[in-house]
Amino acid sequence: MDHIESFTPEFDRFILGNAPLKRLATGFTWVEGPVWFGDVDCLLFNDIPANTIHRWNEGAGITAFRKPSNFANGQTRDRLGRLITCEHGSRSVTRTEHDGRITTLASHHEGKRLNSPNDVVVARDGSIWFTDPHYGIVSNFEGHDAPQELPCNVYRITPDGTLNAMITDFNCPNGLAFSPDEKHLYVAETGRRFHEDPCHIRRFNVAADFALSGGEIFHEISPGKSDGFRMDTDGNLWSSALDGVHCLSPEAKLLGKILVPEKVSNICFGGRAKHILFITATTSLYSISLNRNGAQTP
Ligand code: MG
Repeated sequence: MDHIESFTPEFDRFILGNAPLKRLATGFTWVEGPVWFGDVDCLLFNDIPANTIHRWNEGAGITAFRKPSNFANGQTRDRLGRLITCEHGSRSVTRTEHDGRITTLASHHEGKRLNSPNDVVVARDGSIWFTDPHYGIVSNFEGHDAPQELPCNVYRITPDGTLNAMITDFNCPNGLAFSPDEKHLYVAETGRRFHEDPCHIRRFNVAADFALSGGEIFHEISPGKSDGFRMDTDGNLWSSALDGVHCLSPEAKLLGKILVPEKVSNICFGGRAKHILFITATTSLYSISLNRNGAQTP
């Protein structure tokens, strides 16, 4: 299989010998933010420059879910299954209620506008964690060119709605995910756009009260950057990279790669048993079935 590069026997077991890498749809501009809705059997994902949230399912293919999308980027679901969306255009994080209304959860910190929320996860207690780099306000391609008012932080919205800056020493935080036991939080650093900042994934220790410590460098993706990643049930981290999707063990060992013909932005697990990896990559949406299951954390 020329779309697989395996470096370990573990990864050989994750791969199904007869499962192809499928290109489900193409012709987009720059896609990100995949999130699976098993209850209605569809995937939502975003074409950010096209200002659209698309919906894909097996029978209908691609249909429009929301346009304009406020240049939506990263997405997940909360503990009640509601869609949580990072919006560059409104510089906010929103929740789509079960009746379709949209609620703004965070748009300002200490009286200043957020930059452009990029990626989001929800912890077991219902708190919402998101990264806020400046990528959506440095040009009109993925949002609205505008002055930066706040540092590029990682934030937590507590269950009562309070917004706290949890990590403040990044140049540009991007993808993030908790380990399945929520004892670790992984956050990608992807650097400011015209600078040669270091790019890597850092790992933080998470206390029972969600206080963070540590933050050492866990792994440096090469080639490319870790725009987005998700975990499987054993705590392996599946990350975007320039050449495809890289699978890292909890010890940061590169177990293997799924090679994708376009630069990968984000991934998510979906399907009946969370055994299908959905991959957004530049102009296309891909999938591949694995002998693995995504962690139940969204
Ligand atoms: Mg991202």
